[in-house]
Amino acid sequence: IISQSAKELQLDAYVIGGFVRDFILQRGSAKDIDIVAIGSGIELAKQVAKNLPNNPKVQVFKTYGTAMLRFEDIEIEFVGARKESYHKDSRNPIVENGTLEDDQNRRDFTINALALDLSEEKFGDLLDPFNGIQDLKNAIIRTPLNPDITYSDDPLRMMRAIRFATQLHFEIEEASLKAISKNNHRIEIITKERIVVELNKILESNKPSIGFLLLEKTGLLDYILPELTALKGIDEVEGQRHKDNFYHTLEVVDNISKKTDNLWLRWAALLHDIGKAPTKKFHKKIGWTFHGHEFKGSKMVYQLFKRLKMPLNDKMKFVQKLVLMSSRPIAIADDIATDSAVRRLVFDAGDHIEDLMTLCEADITTKNPVRFKKYHNNFKNVRKKIV
Ligand code: ATP
Repeated sequence: IISQSAKELQLDAYVIGGFVRDFILQRGSAKDIDIVAIGSGIELAKQVAKNLPNNPKVQVFKTYGTAMLRFEDIEIEFVGARKESYHKDSRNPIVENGTLEDDQNRRDFTINALALDLSEEKFGDLLDPFNGIQDLKNAIIRTPLNPDITYSDDPLRMMRAIRFATQLHFEIEEASLKAISKNNHRIEIITKERIVVELNKILESNKPSIGFLLLEKTGLLDYILPELTALKGIDEVEGQRHKDNFYHTLEVVDNISKKTDNLWLRWAALLHDIGKAPTKKFHKKIGWTFHGHEFKGSKMVYQLFKRLKMPLNDKMKFVQKLVLMSSRPIAIADDIATDSAVRRLVFDAGDHIEDLMTLCEADITTKNPVRFKKYHNNFKNVRKKIV
């Protein structure tokens, strides 16, 4: 129908971007399809709507020159091919009409610049000026143009590169990694909301540590979540060392991602030890302690959510609560749970008891799976008597 509608308007149209990438990768069914028209995307959208059986409503975004319509549960977005140039202080480009090549040039990665022809004569032909297909095969994230310019023009692309590397288990090419490290400070011109969208996508992937290690390696993490980089490193006093809480945290996040899709539980895993950096002390007799880190950590969750302009709602309170309580079951495990200790834990955790157990399982598993088994059985028995 899109092909026929484009023919009726005598313009060329292409499917471009994520749909083509995911189609070639055979990665699930698409929810968004991006169409680029050589001409007016808005007119094409209207024509498509006219030709569709249920004549769906077209949403027009005049300022962006784009239009969107919904077909079944798919969002189809239409845009006229465009050429973009950038200003130093903004990620909003100056936009002019352009050719398909101009439009492919403005794309962030070679694997996102692939286009399929929708014309009758060349239906399904792949237009791939940057050899994105090879990068898909080799699992590489690469920019179509000079990476330094690509990332500096729109620093959000640094987050997108790392997000795609995490979701697809792709490598970011060396020149891109260098350019991201060089331009990392430019992330400050990106709105917090957009950064959080990318962070959430990293956290929702099946191995979030890939993304957080890249954020750390490129220096972006220092700008976005300094609470996490503060957990890095191991101090040694009088021959006593503590564990590296940054790498430990990433292990916990990966563990929990195998057990649950709950994004907020994953956030809790990411933040469960952040109170440890500011509470770390060395005592001659006891060694390293992190006394009170749970309370400190839960306060820091509030500050962190506020700084990232994340909603300070029940989800945030859930994360706070889990951070506050995360070490308690472990303490119980160490003592071998008494009825009263478990009773208090069950009472305090309320509806979140199962989530808390999931978090603690992910935490303890990094150190001692055997210990977790023992503790979990013990906990279950006592809990059965109470609940
Ligand atoms: P997903 O749906 O998984 O987020 P996607 O590739 O469809 O993946 P979108 O954010 O929907 O991601 O973007 C659609 C397409 O628009 C991309 O494939 C890419 O070609 C282009 N694009 C999006 N954001 C940018 C950007 N910041 N710079 C350049 N091109 C971009």
